[in-house]
Order: sequence, then C-alpha cells, then structure tokens
Amino acid sequence: MTTGLRPRRLTSPKDLVEAALAAPERLGELEAVAERYAIGLTPSLAALIEPGDPADPIARQFIPDARELIRDPAESDDPIGDDAMSPVHGLVHRYPDRVLIKLVAACAVYCRFCFRRERIGPGAGALSAADFAAALDYVRARPGVWEVILTGGDPLILSARRIAEATRALAALPQVKILRWHTRLPVAAPERVTKAMARALMAEGKTTVVAIHANHPRELTHAARAACLRLSAEGAMLVSQSVLLRGVNDDPETLADLMRAFVEARIKPYYLHHCDLAPGTAHWRVPIARGQELMRLLRGRLSGLATPTYVLDIPGGRGKVPLGPQWVVSEGTGAYVATDLRGVEHIYVDRPGPGGSSQR
Ligand code: SF4
Repeated sequence: MTTGLRPRRLTSPKDLVEAALAAPERLGELEAVAERYAIGLTPSLAALIEPGDPADPIARQFIPDARELIRDPAESDDPIGDDAMSPVHGLVHRYPDRVLIKLVAACAVYCRFCFRRERIGPGAGALSAADFAAALDYVRARPGVWEVILTGGDPLILSARRIAEATRALAALPQVKILRWHTRLPVAAPERVTKAMARALMAEGKTTVVAIHANHPRELTHAARAACLRLSAEGAMLVSQSVLLRGVNDDPETLADLMRAFVEARIKPYYLHHCDLAPGTAHWRVPIARGQELMRLLRGRLSGLATPTYVLDIPGGRGKVPLGPQWVVSEGTGAYVATDLRGVEHIYVDRPGPGGSSQR
C-alpha cells in the first residue's frame, strides 16, 4: 500500500522520520550522513515508497545510509574528471563536437549515488550571468561544437523564463544544432514540467533533446508519463539515462520493465551507466561482469528499440565507452565467432566486396 501524496518536499532526517519513511531509531545515522550530503525527496517520489520496507527500490535511492560515509580508496570527489576538462567555469569540453554547461548545482531530489554529490546541494546556486556569458563566448569561438548539453544539478529546476533565456542565447550560435537537457524532474516533480517549460526548451531550427533520468519502472507514473508527453508534444526528442544500482534495478525483469516503460512514454532507452566511483557509493555498484550478463539477458527479452547501451565513464575525464557484452569476436583471419541469444557460438566468415573498407 502506498501512502498517498505528501504535501511538501522532504529535506532533513527529521522530515523523513516524521513522514514515516525512516525509523525513529535511525535519526542519528541519517543526521551523520546529512552533515556531509544533501537530502531531497519530492512528494511525487515519496508517495511511491512503501513505508517500513527498507529494501523499497525508491526509498533506497533517496533515504541516506551510513555506508555513504565509507570511502573506497579508488573513489574520487570528481569521478568522471570534469575539472580536468573544464576550460571555463561551469563548462566541460570532453569531446570535439560537444560541450556540457552546468547551469545550476542543485536538484529537486538528491540521489544517494550521485556522481556529482561533492559539488551539488541546496546551497549551490545557478551559474552566474558572467560565467554563462563566458561559456557562450567559449562556444562561439569554436565552430566545431555541434551540441550543447545542459546539466547540473538539474537545470529544469530553473524557471521557464531562465530556461528560455538560456535556450535563446544558445540558439543564436549558428554551429550549435542540438540542445540536450539532462533532468530528473519529469519523474521527481512532474507537475513542474509545464507546457510553458516545454516551450522554453525549444528553439526554431534546433533540435531539443531531453535526457530523462529514472532507475525503476515505478518512477514512470501516470503523471511522469504525462510530463514526458508534454515535452514530446512540443517537439522534444526524449532519451533515457539510468544507473545500474544494486538492489534497485540489478535484475533482468526490473530492467526490462524499466526500458519498456521508457518506450511507452516515448523515451528511447539510451544509457545504462555503470555506477561511477563517487565517494561512499561502493554499496551501489554491481560487478561489471554482472552488468554485462544483465545486458545479455535483456537482449534476449527486449526489442532493440528498448535496449540501452551499458556504459562506463572512464575516470579522469577520458569519456564514455560501451561495456558490451561482446557478441562478435574476431578470430584474426577474417573469421568471427558470433554468439546467439541462447549462448551458442557460430563462425561467421567476413566477405567484403571489392574496394575493401573505403566504401562508406
Ligand atoms: S538528479 Fe542527477 S545530479 Fe541530481 S542528485 Fe540525482 S544523480 Fe545527482
């Protein structure tokens, strides 16, 4: 049984205990974690939690856990190397044809596995007008930048007016064709994804992409799907982002249901992230071999339309790479071993036509 809508956003251990989302005897543990990392849980997501079930996959994503204070030596405050690739404050330039601009360092909810958890929180403000202008200047001077990714934090927590200003400024750069917004708001606070906000994301002659973060099929509620439809109705292309999380979605049934829910909401499954090496997140990570096995099982269950790419962000800012699994392996002599969905191996001999590999 769910608890029904709660009226306000929960931002402290006391809030969570009073809402019966954490046992009173856990207050000390929650307060110790809250001294280091922000808490944020919206009414929409709180309403999905089964009270009294510590294994609830929604609760686990947002209720603090003492294990967050255990740091693995390999974990880093900047696990994907944003700082090393940041020529201008608030801008990351990792790939030749795209840049990322962090418009705001706060979110509607605070995920306990967040890869930028050392940099975001309620005290962190939006990018200043001067820093945004410097980011625009940086992009203006680089004709090869085809795509700008707006992220944070969650940039959709800004007002529709602020979003429209950013859209207009970026749309004025002729080489920029794609504006991609990364957000959790359609599942965290779907009522805030209004038609006005959807319009603010759009610019004539540009393609708007919205990458929606959700990790469990229950997050794709009727209200969340309606918010996604408001975005697609205004012309946005929708893609998904999820994190592979132990105890939340690390089984084939849940992952398949999540990916189908995305497609039903007109969201193309895009990335399934291997959980980054952010501080205090070891308890979330599953072995890569398990992630690959899950992807193998998904391939047998799901249409290609519903299959995401499982990716690793290489620490140090080296970028994303697909983690497989490998379905086809070279034997080195023009022969390949292809493994079918039942795990049976087949030899495939490559037969390129005249002209070799220069045809395309
Ligand atoms: S919504 Fe994204 S940026 Fe915000 S806490 Fe969750 S993972 Fe981090």
